[in-house]
Amino acid sequence: MRVGIGYDIHRLVAGRPLVLGGVRIDFSKGLLGHSDADVVCHAICDALLGAAAMGDIGLHFPDTDPAYKDADSLVLLKKVVRMVRDYGYEIENIDCTVFAEAPKLAPFRAEMAAVLAKAIAMAENRINIKATTTEGLGAIGSSEAIAAMCVALLV
Ligand code: MG
Repeated sequence: MRVGIGYDIHRLVAGRPLVLGGVRIDFSKGLLGHSDADVVCHAICDALLGAAAMGDIGLHFPDTDPAYKDADSLVLLKKVVRMVRDYGYEIENIDCTVFAEAPKLAPFRAEMAAVLAKAIAMAENRINIKATTTEGLGAIGSSEAIAAMCVALLV
């Protein structure tokens, strides 16, 4: 068994759609990035790549590559999952925490888990999404950013 950790943070700005865990969430701001800036997908990618000792998301999908401009991060996640499975690993479970002051993400947790489970082609009871605020502290607390942290176990 091999465990990996992933972390990502992106800046919240006006005029961008908010996409978290592959779910489009109606909100006044969205995350700024070269791709769709889905921090949940990016943290999961890094946890999987970390567990497999296959580098990180920036190595495989550089933000200087025009191919990944506004990329759907679910597509990137599917590519990472294929790499990991092609190497002979199976994904035992994924656990992710999203850090956001707003919007409230609890109503979207189950939908995110369902969308991610489908994209990864794994059972929904092997993936868990949690949401928390940072109690108003720091860049996340002042709604300047949203972050995600993830662990993944490979067998
Ligand atoms: Mg990112």
